[in-house]
Amino acid sequence: MNLHEYQAKQLFKHYQIPVPVGAVAATAAAATKICAELGGSRWVVKAQIHAGGRGKAGGVVLADSVAQVEDAAQRLLGKRLVTHQSGADGLPVTQLLIEQPTAIASERYLSLLVDRAAEQFLFMASSAGGMDIEAVAAATPEQILLVAVHPAAGVQPYQVRRIGFGLGLNAAQLKQLATVMHGLYQLATECDASLVEINPLVINDLGDLIALDAKLTLDDNALYRHPDLEALRDPSQEDAREAQARAHELNYISLHGNIGCMVNGAGLAMATMDLVKLHGGAPANFLDVGGGATAARVAEAFKLILSDPKVTAVLVNIFGGIVRCDLIAEGIMQAVREVAVQVPIVVRLEGTNAAQGLQLLAESGLALITASSLSDAANRVVAAAAGRNDTVEATA
Ligand code: GDP
Ligand code: MN
Repeated sequence: MNLHEYQAKQLFKHYQIPVPVGAVAATAAAATKICAELGGSRWVVKAQIHAGGRGKAGGVVLADSVAQVEDAAQRLLGKRLVTHQSGADGLPVTQLLIEQPTAIASERYLSLLVDRAAEQFLFMASSAGGMDIEAVAAATPEQILLVAVHPAAGVQPYQVRRIGFGLGLNAAQLKQLATVMHGLYQLATECDASLVEINPLVINDLGDLIALDAKLTLDDNALYRHPDLEALRDPSQEDAREAQARAHELNYISLHGNIGCMVNGAGLAMATMDLVKLHGGAPANFLDVGGGATAARVAEAFKLILSDPKVTAVLVNIFGGIVRCDLIAEGIMQAVREVAVQVPIVVRLEGTNAAQGLQLLAESGLALITASSLSDAANRVVAAAAGRNDTVEATA
């Protein structure tokens, strides 16, 4: 789960990481009111969406007057902002962060993320901070400094110095960096974050470090330990189908292809997606209906897949271990009858009561394509998705 910049900055403040002074507004009137409260004559208006790249997309406005703040608020609020990270449809802007402007002397990059292979948190830092860090990482990876933190030792002074020297900081700034790095580490461990990113970490005109931007990703599997953080969820920024799946305890991740996949078990789901790829297709989703799938749950899963307009064919691949294939077949039939299914559906059932399941499907009178093996199923669904019926007609 991702947080908004303003939410992340509130946490930063709590962990002694310096951030600009600011407040959140949901209307243009509230934005101008905040200007008065903050004082001064210039403000920064920042669209709050779960995507970076706002600066280049017009989502960060440096305003020289209250009128400009109002203009920016009217232009941004209620609209969708498209950035290079937001997807083509963009994300809805319902809140703005209004801040006192920072006079930037230079920009750095600093983040802390989980290095899964090393089973440690890893600091990433670069003196080439700002809006193009991805390009820096791709073209000149030697400009990115990596420092892993051993969980038993925590952040060590020599690690702060290594990053500080790498970032070209002076003695006073090194002290501030120590506070920032300890704050990031404490925040990440206490909140179960998988990523905390400051881009840019700026040095202002007084030579002080300030987190000008904040990105925070929380580990979904640890959210049950943080109801206060879970409460910060903004469903408007999340994939609607993923949210619906969560409500039905289905493990669903939206992807870019056109073949809907319904599988039981995460491992089988991964293997199924691989096979679809191998046969020249592209999965529209990852979906694990779980080991204890019921007919009702399968029906929900089906509706979810079919609500995606990208989907031109569906592959159902169920291995009946704990779950019985005849129950799955009933779920499929229930869903296909409830939802007016327009796309071809390829079904492969294997394991407990597979024969009964296949028989139910055959007798249902529904236009389902059954497959004899996983490879056969992948082949058929790729052909069906492409609108070819060469392999589709010969059902096993
Ligand atoms: P992002 O583009 O979504 O990553 O949004 P950021 O919060 O990183 O802002 C983008 C850019 O806007 C920053 O890299 C800065 O160059 C600029 N910016 C943001 N806040 C300020 C500010 O207070 N003063 C100045 N001068 N520039 C700012
Ligand atoms: Mn940024």
